[in-house]
Amino acid sequence: MSKPTLLERFLVRATVSAVEHITPRMRHIRLTGDSLHRLEWTPGQHVRVLVDAIRLRSYSVWEHSPDGYLDLCVLDHPAAGPGARWSREVRAGQTVAFTRPQGRLVPRDAAYHLFAGDETAAVAFGPMLRALPNSVSYGVVEVEGPDDRLPLPFTRARWLERNGPDGLADAVRGLDLPAAPGVAYLAGEARACQAVRRHLVTERGWPRRSVVVKPFWTPGKRGLD
Ligand SMILES: Cc1cc2nc3c(=O)[nH]c(=O)nc-3n(C[C@H](O)[C@H](O)[C@H](O)COP(=O)(O)OP(=O)(O)OC[C@H]3O[C@@H](n4cnc5c(N)ncnc54)[C@H](O)[C@@H]3O)c2cc1C
Repeated sequence: MSKPTLLERFLVRATVSAVEHITPRMRHIRLTGDSLHRLEWTPGQHVRVLVDAIRLRSYSVWEHSPDGYLDLCVLDHPAAGPGARWSREVRAGQTVAFTRPQGRLVPRDAAYHLFAGDETAAVAFGPMLRALPNSVSYGVVEVEGPDDRLPLPFTRARWLERNGPDGLADAVRGLDLPAAPGVAYLAGEARACQAVRRHLVTERGWPRRSVVVKPFWTPGKRGLD
């Protein structure tokens, strides 16, 4: 067996126990192991998975149980880089190495919550919404088609089929939101996130601190995080 690299020594290890489709284009990958009992995670945070010998890709944690499992949901996009290829090839029984959960895309205190993003962002939104069971939430999620919808318990949801770079911002512009700002969580494709942020700050006058932005990917760039 080869010696572990410095990177590998800092990573958590778990075993893949199941790989299933949660939507036709997205795989739900369950990791199990003793290392997962003690893992600290706040809903919305992600782990960075070693998807081949040298490359890490970030995936939001869909669910974590202190009983010893952690679930990821990985989109199989057409440009398939190392992350998407890993999700195609990974099988039950294999060992996976990844960082501890990290990230600032986590629920804040607010009168109401606005979530906007795409299929990949929906993976982070799911556990954040489950952590806010009695809160008012508005969701706008842009997807390729109706099959891409994840089960997300928004108070008010608008699922949008992808239709150009301004589609997400236009849909948020059309929302009938309360006059006072809440907190917005914007994730997914980088330019769409920035367009929604511009709309909230410049057109609706929301303070910048009320808008949490985490770009997940952008066309032509590899491994954004
Ligand atoms: C904090 C964070 C959390 C994330 N959580 C998730 C998650 O839960 N699930 C998930 O699937 N992804 C998630 N991502 C995105 C993920 O990390 C990778 O960027 C994605 O899997 C693409 O990696 P890749 O190696 O396949 O492609 P890369 O080599 O990174 O990129 C190759 C090309 O593929 C294209 N591309 C990348 N992503 C997409 C896409 N979604 N749709 C269309 N084209 C694309 C781009 O043109 C890019 O240049 C997250 C990213 C971040 C930063």
